[in-house]
Amino acid sequence: MLLATDLDGSFLAGTPEKRHQLYQLITLHPDLELVFVTGRGLESVIPLLSDPTIPTPSYIICDVGATVVDGSSLQPVQPLQAEIDARWPGEYAVEQAVADLPGLQRQDVPQERRCSFYCEAEAVTDELSRIAKKLGCDMLYSAERYLDFLPAGVNKGSTLKALTELLEKDSERVLVVGDMLNDLSLFSYDFHGVCVGKSEAALLRATSQLEHVYHAREAGCGGILEAIEHFDLLANKSYGAEARKQPEPGKSDLVIVYHRLPFEEYIQNGKVQQRQPSSPNGIIPTLLSFFASGTKGSWIAWSTVEEEVSNFQRRTPVDKDLYPNLTASKVSLSREEVDIFYKRFSKEAFWPTLHTFWEQATFREDHWQVFLEVNRKFAEHAATEAAVGAVVWVHDYNLWMVPAVLRELRPDVTIAFFHHTYFPSADVFNVLPWRRDIIGSLLQCNFIGFHIPRQAENFVDVARGVMPLKVKERISCAPRFLTYGCAMGLEEMTSLIDVGGREIRLGALPVGLDVDRIRAALERPSVKKKAQALRAELSGNRVILSVERLDYTKGILPKLEAFELLLEQHPELMGDVTLVTICVPAAKEMTIYDDLQTQIEQTVGRINGRFAKVGWTPIQFFFRAYPFEDLVAFYSLADIMWITPLRDGLNLVAKEFVATQGILGGKGVLVLSEFAGAAAELRGALLTNPHDPHDLVNTCFQALTMDESEAVSRIREAFEVVRHNDIRAWGDEFMQVIDTCRTAPAIAAAAPESK
Ligand code: UDP
Repeated sequence: MLLATDLDGSFLAGTPEKRHQLYQLITLHPDLELVFVTGRGLESVIPLLSDPTIPTPSYIICDVGATVVDGSSLQPVQPLQAEIDARWPGEYAVEQAVADLPGLQRQDVPQERRCSFYCEAEAVTDELSRIAKKLGCDMLYSAERYLDFLPAGVNKGSTLKALTELLEKDSERVLVVGDMLNDLSLFSYDFHGVCVGKSEAALLRATSQLEHVYHAREAGCGGILEAIEHFDLLANKSYGAEARKQPEPGKSDLVIVYHRLPFEEYIQNGKVQQRQPSSPNGIIPTLLSFFASGTKGSWIAWSTVEEEVSNFQRRTPVDKDLYPNLTASKVSLSREEVDIFYKRFSKEAFWPTLHTFWEQATFREDHWQVFLEVNRKFAEHAATEAAVGAVVWVHDYNLWMVPAVLRELRPDVTIAFFHHTYFPSADVFNVLPWRRDIIGSLLQCNFIGFHIPRQAENFVDVARGVMPLKVKERISCAPRFLTYGCAMGLEEMTSLIDVGGREIRLGALPVGLDVDRIRAALERPSVKKKAQALRAELSGNRVILSVERLDYTKGILPKLEAFELLLEQHPELMGDVTLVTICVPAAKEMTIYDDLQTQIEQTVGRINGRFAKVGWTPIQFFFRAYPFEDLVAFYSLADIMWITPLRDGLNLVAKEFVATQGILGGKGVLVLSEFAGAAAELRGALLTNPHDPHDLVNTCFQALTMDESEAVSRIREAFEVVRHNDIRAWGDEFMQVIDTCRTAPAIAAAAPESK
């Protein structure tokens, strides 16, 4: 059957349960085709297409019948559109013709091939009718407020009729849906029709004698479902079984969706074994800590071992003693899927764009399809693990599309998302070919967290270009964050938005450190010994330390060039200062970093060749990853930590340095790019603009010549921030915010019973 439905008051109305039921039916039933027939202009329909919970129509008839397009390509359906166009005199001709008439106010909404006005009934005069006739237009007046000039003979019904004829559809298999008098034309043909509950009285009167029109009891989607039953349009009823393919809820009250498992898997004698991760990532222990009290939970992450082992189990305990009710639910992926989804596509398409290096991005539709498929698998796992009304916490841009699928499968759960990377403004983000899908997915969340206010505000900037949204709450950024003091500063940020009646909370929660882990490392004799040995090897030179992954976002080349300039401008530093650079190589599949690596190696070689003296090498370059404890030893001996990313979501290295120096009561100076998220919170850091070579040189020199008492008080100030806002505070705050924005109980109640 073909469902041709008006939107406002019809397809977009009704209870959340009935909407969900109808949308599921349309998505799942192979014999149900959807056509939107609306008074809205096409541009006002487009946001609906980004909402993953609303099924995509095959065709869209909009502008009260004056526009007809394909639902996927949004290209006109020909020859229908050309025939309508030929009858339209043009909006300026209409405007000009009515310019001198009183009481007409042009509607400021998107529209094409029609001119719509607000006007009172008394302004709809014979004179107006004469003008319309002269222009070759039809006039449609509805709800005693809206006046439309349309191409002659064009209305919702006529265009739908022409479309069904073009598609050779049997009228008996068409159901038209309306709720206002301006839908009347839909009921003027031989289609089955339904006026949904709460329809305009005038429409009900006008259709009361029509046998093929059913007046439904329920409003919106409920009324449409009633009519499908009434006319027995999906006779085989198999759709019911299909729709019930919804996953049964699981038992987890908290579901973490993170790309990595909280343990390492290794293969021994053809069997998979688990062990503690060798380098525990900072937030994994924090996320695990939520389960220490016995909370029932699941951790969804990928695993690539299924093909190679005989004992693969999709669900396994994480650690029965520490987290008795936590289960790892493994999304089994092939190595190729991981390569494409994570190492290539995410890094080649999303990473550069997110960090404003969009010229470096490559977009591949086939990779996007893999990304979608992998995200779907993650979402399906989450949907079967989550208990009714559970919290599902999704992490980072690799899993952007999880909320879209999850919301469809489980409208009852509360979805929280934390964005670990930078989030750019619309100027940059909109370069992504799939921006509407991504934002449509994120807007299914109840809460989205970013590191700093600027990123949350950029998200609002992007979302506003995808869907109409209302800002419902704004909060001051101070005193937690810098306002005008750095490039990332903002005075106020949006903390609550409304999109189509759904509220989404936004937060700025910079990830914190496990300060005790650094304290423990510093107490270890091996770390103390390592620091002493390094000091001795550097023969008393002052150390400028630089630690980062090999990545163009990290600004390694501009920093090296600035160091060259520093030595040129201050030759007295030669033999006194050494730049120690730790650069962590990228995985070998990430070929986009090959050129950068060559450039860096050449630059280091050039500078060392130019300035080195016997017994002194200006740059000590280590192209390898160090264990965390070694890194702490480096942090402890550094006089200056020089962190100059061109753009960075946060930068944990900066915080780790601050914590190390703070614990030791040191006098190391943090010189930090004002384009790193951490700059917005780390008072006490000396901020620098890495895009400006002179500022890089001058700020580094300022740090080298800083009075000791200033250095001590600056690092103390920064350490206060790091110590207070540690990783536990971050986790607790995140969970507190989630508690304030749980999914409405009405929807939760709609979910099936828990197992
Ligand atoms: N890191 C490490 N060994 C190294 C260099 C870095 O363990 O040789 C760790 C470092 O301690 C920090 C993380 O890698 O926790 C880097 O995080 P950051 O936020 O600075 O940058 P990202 O790589 O996430 O962009």
